[in-house]
Amino acid sequence: MQHEFSIQVSPETASNPELLKRSVSKKNGIPFHEISHIRILKRSIDARQRQIKVNLKLQVYVQEEYTDVPIPLPEYPDVTNAPEIVIIGAGPAGLFAALRCIELGCKPVVLERGKDVRTRRRDLKAINRDHIVNEDSNYCFGEGGAGTYSDGKLYTRSRKRGDVQRILKLLVGFGATDQILVEAHPHIGTNKLPGIIAAIREMIIERGGVIRFNSRVVDLRVKNSQIEGVELKDGTVIDTRKVILATGHSARDIFELLYKKKIAIEVKPFALGVRVEHSQQLIDQIQYSCEVRSPYLPPSPYSIVKQVDGRGMYSFCMCPGGVIAPCATSPGEVVTNGWSPSKRDQPTANSGIVIELKLEDFKEYEKFGPLSGMYFQKEIEQKAWMLAGETQKVPAQRLQDLVEGKISSDLPDTSYKPGLTAVDMKAVFPEFIHQTLQKGFSMFNKSMPGYLTNDAVAHAPESRTSSPVRIPRDRVSLEHIQIKGLYPCGEGAGYAGGIISAAIDGEKCAEACIQTIKKIMD
Ligand code: FAD
Repeated sequence: MQHEFSIQVSPETASNPELLKRSVSKKNGIPFHEISHIRILKRSIDARQRQIKVNLKLQVYVQEEYTDVPIPLPEYPDVTNAPEIVIIGAGPAGLFAALRCIELGCKPVVLERGKDVRTRRRDLKAINRDHIVNEDSNYCFGEGGAGTYSDGKLYTRSRKRGDVQRILKLLVGFGATDQILVEAHPHIGTNKLPGIIAAIREMIIERGGVIRFNSRVVDLRVKNSQIEGVELKDGTVIDTRKVILATGHSARDIFELLYKKKIAIEVKPFALGVRVEHSQQLIDQIQYSCEVRSPYLPPSPYSIVKQVDGRGMYSFCMCPGGVIAPCATSPGEVVTNGWSPSKRDQPTANSGIVIELKLEDFKEYEKFGPLSGMYFQKEIEQKAWMLAGETQKVPAQRLQDLVEGKISSDLPDTSYKPGLTAVDMKAVFPEFIHQTLQKGFSMFNKSMPGYLTNDAVAHAPESRTSSPVRIPRDRVSLEHIQIKGLYPCGEGAGYAGGIISAAIDGEKCAEACIQTIKKIMD
């Protein structure tokens, strides 16, 4: 017999099967020796009270054996000779589009400007150690896109986007821990993601799909409002009438190309700010109301939102036990973001703290038309690069100093490998952003006493939160509003924000594209 119920227990009980069994037995009146297995279906931590609790949804097996059934992958047919769909970009959107193409009987041809996960590592080393940014291979570009060396948090703010559970199960099928199906806030970690991405690539190739690395797309061939082909940097032209464009929010050359070719794009508001680093111990003390974190609790995350003079200021992509990474995609700019290993065992906690921008903020950049937000973003990244010394060092300021408007006389150690230069954030940002940050951090301190401290350091800028451009598409066919056969997809096109939603959008675009192919073939 199986029973499903919810229970609230201490962190120690939640992590000890024997104690959990005792607790279940006591609370539900089931004799201890009759419980043969307890399967955890969902787990979340409730840290709102001093006594921290863990909420569990359980499936309890009573006098019945439990057999562990691995999560199966879908049947992927051989598509060697099937109709082709070209996918530009091998990020989560592109790769999940490719898998869905195969599942539905089409052959994906994935064109990726960067390198495979392993070769890409050398370019990450070069950014961190030698301050060299390769325009095709960096933290955003390369196999797996921005998702590969990301933090791998797998939650999405909007459940309306689609079937989150389906994507999580696929990730488990390709090697992620099945705990991502259980945790309320699932996380994979930077050390585990490359293996999962490589497993996806191997499946695509094994079933007859194609992935071409070092293949930057530099032009789209369009005739009579129909996509006819794509051109690569080396001059190769690939004829095709179906293109899924999943190039991510950092592919500025693609946005420029669309604008130059008069293919409709729109300016889109996004958010921008700094990445703040505290010691993980301090965040644990604030969030868990304790001196030292219990060994049964994970390094604590935090999430905070405030309204400051009519603008949202909020934490973004918070990485407990993590590291700040140099995420520029071109020389002459600096960009921060964060990641953490699966164990989240680094001594520091970092988070983007960003301010909601509005279209009117880009007024000065109007001459760039729909690229005005992108130029606003780019100018801040370039200014930060200049102010910090024209390397991959970033402008930094202790948090209390930022609020008080003082350049920090010294800076503490940072997880950001290329290093820091003490700069007043006033010089990096337009005045309204700087003032919002100053006011906002004081407000943060009221909700999280101790947050505003000079032991914490702001690194600038956190600027690639979402795309500054939307590529408009038809709501039903998902084709570009002017160009038949072109499917704007994922975060870069403005239809996703994060790994899961990008993967969901990739699947959606593949389905929409295949529907039209099937109609033609019927
Ligand atoms: P991308 O992942 O940006 O992929 C686009 C791909 O297109 C890239 O591989 C790029 O090389 C390729 N490309 C671009 N231009 C061309 C061209 N002209 N020709 C050929 N190929 C091209 N999200 C989360 O949900 N959770 C997290 O914890 C998280 N942490 C992050 C940490 C870091 C350090 C970074 C950088 C990002 C993080 N993100 C996280 C964001 C997440 O990675 C992105 O939201 C997601 O990868 C977007 O997917 P995408 O496929 O739409 O685009």
